[in-house]
Order: sequence, then C-alpha cells, then structure tokens
Amino acid sequence: MQGKIAVEEHFAVPETQNPLVPQTLQHDLLDFDSARISRMDKYGIEFSVLSLNGPAVQNVPDNNAAIDLAQRTNDLLAEQVVRRPDRFAGLGALPMQDPDKAITELNRCINDLGFVGVNVNGFSQRDNTHLYYDLPEFRPFWAVVEKLDIPFYLHPRNPLTDQMPMYDGHPWLTNATWAFAMETSVHALRLMCSGLFDDHPKLQLVLGHLGERIPFDLWRVDQRLKIDPRGVPAKKTVSYYLKNNFHVSTSGQFHDPPLHLAMTEIGTDRVLFSVDYPFEPMKQGCNWFDNAALAEEDRLAIGRNNAIKLFKLPLMSASGT
Ligand code: ZN
Repeated sequence: MQGKIAVEEHFAVPETQNPLVPQTLQHDLLDFDSARISRMDKYGIEFSVLSLNGPAVQNVPDNNAAIDLAQRTNDLLAEQVVRRPDRFAGLGALPMQDPDKAITELNRCINDLGFVGVNVNGFSQRDNTHLYYDLPEFRPFWAVVEKLDIPFYLHPRNPLTDQMPMYDGHPWLTNATWAFAMETSVHALRLMCSGLFDDHPKLQLVLGHLGERIPFDLWRVDQRLKIDPRGVPAKKTVSYYLKNNFHVSTSGQFHDPPLHLAMTEIGTDRVLFSVDYPFEPMKQGCNWFDNAALAEEDRLAIGRNNAIKLFKLPLMSASGT
C-alpha cells in the first residue's frame, strides 16, 4: 500500500541512546534524512509521526534534568518537522516527574511547536519510585490533555532494574520480549480502573504493539471485575474504555491473528499502522501490512485514514475507489 502513515517511529539524541544497542541502530535513531526517508519511500510510508526513544525523559530521576531534556529534544524534533512537514509530524516528550511542569511543556508542544500529540514512555522515575499517571496528582494534567483534544501515546519501558525480581536470571524476558507489554498493560489498566475516563471521557490514548496483550484478555478482565470488583472505582467496564478511550497501533506486531483480534475487540476505526522504526525493520512491517488478510477498505483505514483523523494531520484521506 502506498501512502501509509506510521505513528510510532522513533529518533534519539546522543544522551538518550542506549550504548549497548548495535551501532547501526544508534545511527538510524539519529538520522532524519537519508536512511529514514529512502526507506519510507521504498516501502510506501508517506508520513511518519516521530517520537523520542525510551525510556529517555521518564528515566531521569531529577526533575530539573527531566524538564531540560524534554525541552531540548522537543525543540530538536520541532526543527526536523518544520524542515519536512510533508513527511513528519511530532509527538512531544513530557517531564511527568513534575506534573505542573508537564502541563507547561504539554501546552508548549501543542500550541508553540505544532506537535500533534505527546508520547510518554511509561511510568516516570522520581527518586527510586514508579510514578503512575492514575495517581491523583495527575488529574489536572489529564484535564489539560482532554481540553487540548490531542492523543497521549503510552509507550513501553522496563520496570526499574532493582524492582523486577520476576525476571531475575531471565534477562531475555525483559524489553520487548515480555516485560514492556506487562509494564504497559498494567499501567493502562490502572488508568482505566481508576475512573479517569469517567471524569475525562474525551481522553484518547494510544497503545502500541496491538494493545500490549490487553485485547486477548479483555473478556476475562471484564468478567472477573464483574464477579469480584473489590471496590474498583471505575463506573464502566475495561472493554468500554478500550473501545472509547484507546487506539492501538501495529508497532512490532507484524502478525495477522493479533491484528484481527484488535479489530474485533476494539474496532477497526481504532487500529493504526506503525512500524516502531528503527527498533523494527520498516521492510518487515510494511511487507506484512501490505499483504495482511484485510479488506482493502480496512487496509486504507488502518494504514492511513484513522491516523489522519486521530492526529488531525493535514493530509488527504484515501478512498478505495
Ligand atoms: Zn516504540
């Protein structure tokens, strides 16, 4: 499919690079030009929605340093988007360690830098604790997100190293193999069960990786909460929130069965194409999606039109005729 829009594509700056990853990946993360654009051209991606790699800002325990890193990386991304508005849009990074400063930077990202949303890499580290965004101190932040009417991308990260005994001796289960999805799905479920979306029903969040495994267990979560709610504050079911307050993207999940499951459980209009480049190969993600078992109308919706609508991109929707 030509004209695809990819919504979870990453860049880095030298200080957010993981020195343990291969040099080629580090190079691709710093590149906005030759390799990135030529691959987009080759595999039919017209437009990439770019965000900083993870955990980056979320992993900086000092508030002022987190604010500074967010501002500098947002400025750099804005420069790249201005340079290629025909190919890129930006999602801002936010210093969630300080909810007031996160609101300030959020407003700057949308109103001054022209970003189409924000991308936050899971919980934020404040000292040695996990700061999840269902906590009461974040309610004013969510009110501003709702008012600005922009999507919030909840991107994965690992748990803190000294707080994941579950993975002791099994480092291969961390990162994208398993720990990312566990961490992110619990965070999303915390937001849903907290009643956040009862107070702010217009909020729209995005999960990568076709929903971080939540669609597979949706019936069971609803069923158990109905039988044994244990005081859950949310007024509606998890499946209701998933269908009304969440979108999912295909990042790093290039396989038909989970795609079809997400379409069935959440709705085709809430599924978006993405690659997760350069952590995942553009060639593999695009070749899979172009040949996935989909009605052409659904391929156009997931590959392009849903993203234009959600991120309010200045692009023409594609029609199947
Ligand atoms: Zn990603």
